[in-house]
Amino acid sequence: MTYGVTSGHSLDPVEKKPLYHFFPGHNILSVGSYGCNMRCDFCQNYHISQTRADSFYPDTDPEKLAIEALNAPDNIGLAFTYNEPVIWFEFIMDTAIKIKEKGMSNVMVSNGFVNKNPLNDLLEFIDAFNIDLKAFNNPFYTKLTGAELEPVKEALKQISKAGKHLEVTTLIIPGRNDSEQEMDMEAKWISEELGNETPLHLSRYFPRYKRDDPATPESVLARLYDTASKHLKYVYVGNTSDGNGQDTKCSKCGKIVTRRSGYNTRLLNLDSKGKCSACGNSVYRNFTLSSRAAH
Ligand SMILES: [Zn+2]
Repeated sequence: MTYGVTSGHSLDPVEKKPLYHFFPGHNILSVGSYGCNMRCDFCQNYHISQTRADSFYPDTDPEKLAIEALNAPDNIGLAFTYNEPVIWFEFIMDTAIKIKEKGMSNVMVSNGFVNKNPLNDLLEFIDAFNIDLKAFNNPFYTKLTGAELEPVKEALKQISKAGKHLEVTTLIIPGRNDSEQEMDMEAKWISEELGNETPLHLSRYFPRYKRDDPATPESVLARLYDTASKHLKYVYVGNTSDGNGQDTKCSKCGKIVTRRSGYNTRLLNLDSKGKCSACGNSVYRNFTLSSRAAH
C-alpha cells in the first residue's frame, strides 16, 4: 500500500541519520514513507509511523529517486529512514538496485525487527545501517514496543557478519532503560558480538506521542557514556544542549579526528583515506574527502 509513497524527502548530512563513521562530512538523500511494525508509546516520529494507510498516493518511483540522488550535490546515495524501512521492503529492493547501478551507496535506518530471509535480500544492496537497539531487556520490548529483543539482536549479528557498516542507536528513557547495569551489559554484548569499533549513539529522549515523562537528564547520558566507553571505542551522545560527546577521537592514539557541532563536521588529522595522520590507525573505512566538511 505504501509502494512509491513518501512522507519526507530531503538532502541531509549523513551525520543526521545518525552515521558518524560512514563517509563523514557528506550528504545523503533521505526518504521515508508511512507506518511501522512496532508500536512504541514513546515514538519520536509517530506522526508518520503510527498513521493509517487509507489515503496514500504514490508520488515517486525507483528510477526517479535514483536520478535525483545522482544529481544531488556532494551526495553519497540514498537513505531509507524517517519511518520503518523494513515494511517498505519491495520499494526499497527496487530502488536500492538502481542506486547501486549508478555507483552510489544505500543506507537503512531501522529498528532491526526483521526476519532472516528478507534481511538477507536487503544485505545484497544496503551498504550501511543504523539500527535501534531500544533497550537491553525484553520486558521493555514487549511492553513498550509490541516487539521482542531477541530478533533484533539476531539481525544485528547478521548485518555484522555480512561485513556491512553498522552503527547502533539507543534512545535513553528515564526509568526504562537508563540503568548503568543494563548499559554495561548492552555495550559488552555489542563489543563481543559486533566488535568494539561499532559506534554506539546514546540519544536523549523527549516526551512524545503517548509518553509524557520529562526529557532524559543530561547527567544520565554522561554517566551512561562513561559506562559504554569501558567496552566500546566510539560512543556518542546525541540531542543534548551542550553538544558534548559528539567528537571522534582516534581509537589508538586519542587524537581528535572529527569535531562535530550540530551538523557541522570538521575533519582533522586525517589523511585522504580516513586514517589518523598521527598514528596511521584506520579510523574511517568508508571515507572520501568532502567539500562540505571543513578540513
Ligand atoms: Zn591515531
